[in-house]
Amino acid sequence: CFITFEGPDGSGKTTQIGRLAARLEARGVRVVKTREPGGSPGADAIRHIVLSGAAEGLGVETEALLFAAARYDHVRTVILPALRDGSFVLCDRFLDSTRAYQGSAPGLDRAFLDELEDATTIDAQPDLTLILDLPIDVSMRRLAERRNAEAADRFEKDGIDIHQARRQTFLDIAAREPDRCAVIEATGPLDEVSDRIERVVLDRCAA
Ligand code: ATP
Ligand code: C5P
Ligand code: MG
Repeated sequence: CFITFEGPDGSGKTTQIGRLAARLEARGVRVVKTREPGGSPGADAIRHIVLSGAAEGLGVETEALLFAAARYDHVRTVILPALRDGSFVLCDRFLDSTRAYQGSAPGLDRAFLDELEDATTIDAQPDLTLILDLPIDVSMRRLAERRNAEAADRFEKDGIDIHQARRQTFLDIAAREPDRCAVIEATGPLDEVSDRIERVVLDRCAA
């Protein structure tokens, strides 16, 4: 089962993916936890280029190609082998983040992104996508608290309108693809959110 976690910055994806992995492992499920951009040595190198700001000024198409190159390597060297091996793959961001982030870049042609998605995703179609949803003022507060502990990457400096638009893009995707996507109410205590996620996963993926 290939499960992707999506949602705005600070919605709790990384926190909840770790908690779901632990709960599934406690049930005896083999789990591979991974993330984008990154997830393989080659893709992690590209992640560094993109998030450090070293690629700023290259243009939106070139940046989209860098994200696509990272996905191509990650899918082939990590995700597909793990799925073939019978593991559950839990991925922190995947194709919907590309649609929400690169897809909102001014001037970027949607057809270009669609072609990249087709070329890189191939057999790694998510069986279930959990869209963590919450008001942006809540996620912004969480990010501000987290930022005290670590350096922010360049995308975290985006304004509130951009975050709102991305939240809406994730919700629109969920409405268009209800068989693949489940919207998870991501406010509230950690355990409550984890329980919601676990219920959907056990319902949709035979664990
Ligand atoms: P990003 O998109 O930036 O990677 P994320 O979606 O992975 O963000 P996390 O890093 O998991 O989000 O969470 C953001 C911050 O909010 C962290 O400091 C985390 O500890 C905290 N947090 C996560 N879930 C909750 C929750 N349910 N209640 C309160 N705080 C939370
Ligand atoms: O989720 P994570 O914090 O690892 O993502 C790192 C950054 O990359 C985030 O700030 C996110 O906004 C950005 N990103 C992006 N396009 C993607 C995936 C992530 O701009 N397709
Ligand atoms: Mg995260």
